[in-house]
Amino acid sequence: MTKKGFSTTNLHSDRKDNPEHGVLHKAIHPSVAYGYDDARELAEVFQGKKAGYNYGRQLNPTVTALQNRITAMEEGVATVAFSTGMAAIATSFMSLLRSGDHIVSSAFLFGNTNSLFGTLENLGIEISYVDATDVAAVKNVTRGNTKIVFVETIANPVTQVADLAAIGDFCKSEKLIYVVDNTMTSPHLFLPKKVSASLVVNSLTKYIGGHGNALGGSITDTGLFDWQSFDNIFEHYKKEQPNLWGITQIKKKGLRDMGSTLGPEAAHHLAVGSETLPMRMDRASSNAQQLAELCNTHASVNNTYYPGLSHHPQHSRARQLFNSFGAIFSIDLIDGIDCFDVLNKMETVVSSSNLGDTRTLGIPVAHTIYFEMGAERRASMGITDSLLRFSVGIEDISDLLDDFHQALNP
Ligand SMILES: *Cc1c(COP(=O)(O)O)cnc(C)c1O
Repeated sequence: MTKKGFSTTNLHSDRKDNPEHGVLHKAIHPSVAYGYDDARELAEVFQGKKAGYNYGRQLNPTVTALQNRITAMEEGVATVAFSTGMAAIATSFMSLLRSGDHIVSSAFLFGNTNSLFGTLENLGIEISYVDATDVAAVKNVTRGNTKIVFVETIANPVTQVADLAAIGDFCKSEKLIYVVDNTMTSPHLFLPKKVSASLVVNSLTKYIGGHGNALGGSITDTGLFDWQSFDNIFEHYKKEQPNLWGITQIKKKGLRDMGSTLGPEAAHHLAVGSETLPMRMDRASSNAQQLAELCNTHASVNNTYYPGLSHHPQHSRARQLFNSFGAIFSIDLIDGIDCFDVLNKMETVVSSSNLGDTRTLGIPVAHTIYFEMGAERRASMGITDSLLRFSVGIEDISDLLDDFHQALNP
């Protein structure tokens, strides 16, 4: 049978294992515990000799169904879902690293990931921040204790596109774990596996869930990394087949020990949301392209940052790697135009911090999500005080264009 397409596979995913009553959605299972007629079977489940559920912190059928959808979307071998995207990143790093290990990270990061890495530094993990738009910068700082290279596909908020393929080749040859945060592109626009990613992060809160009504995060193992070459796997988790060692450790530590578990109700919302991911993403990307083009030539705008504009420094890389250029763009304004005034004049665009919603959201980033990191780090990331980030939604484009026109015209 030929392999079915992205949408078909996802839409029919929950029907696969003969669900009760032939339901088309996996049921929401609220049960925390699972009963066994034979106590020996319970012991076998605990010892991993038999598949089954034991306690809701580690496993839940509704969450498993969502994990299977994400594994299929990312063309990976296994996925673990978490309560949020930050929980996915934090617990994976805590599960895989030891003090004295070194991370090479893109300097252009989601603000909370940047803050998390500060916490890891306090725990004895070393971090080097580099301009990941060029693999040479990653190579320069890699050393004997480097374990992980971390990048985002399209960076927040200035939309730099990492040198994804060359970094993948480098990580492969150096046996480094290559972690790609695919949140901004989603598996509809980009498969990190194609650039040799080892682990893929998705904040399910954003495009995959897509409606701003549930939090969630995930880590998918692409199956490409040789975990036998990695020092930090606990002996217990070496019983599985080697390509599952890493994700097993993330699951055991991240869910069982750290408890950042996704709830079944949220899993249901995220799964239903994911069914329209390709349609939403295509529409939002097309809307973003048109708005970015408007801003790019508008007299009130100093700079427009969007990979779909031909002057963007990584425009051709983005064209080559991604199905479209995504739905996030940022602008900074000319002197004398206040970013708060512009947002306040907008009628359709909502002042809000989320991204990947169906509605268009705008935020003055230096004063909000990038406030805590301070002016110096902001400057190094290209974030000016007047920078506005827009997460473009799926509204009618004519209404969005009207709203930007009236708000930007002085
Ligand atoms: C939002 C976001 C996260 C964190 O996800 P939450 O679900 O909000 O915890 C991580 N990385 C990127 C790129 C994000 O945009």
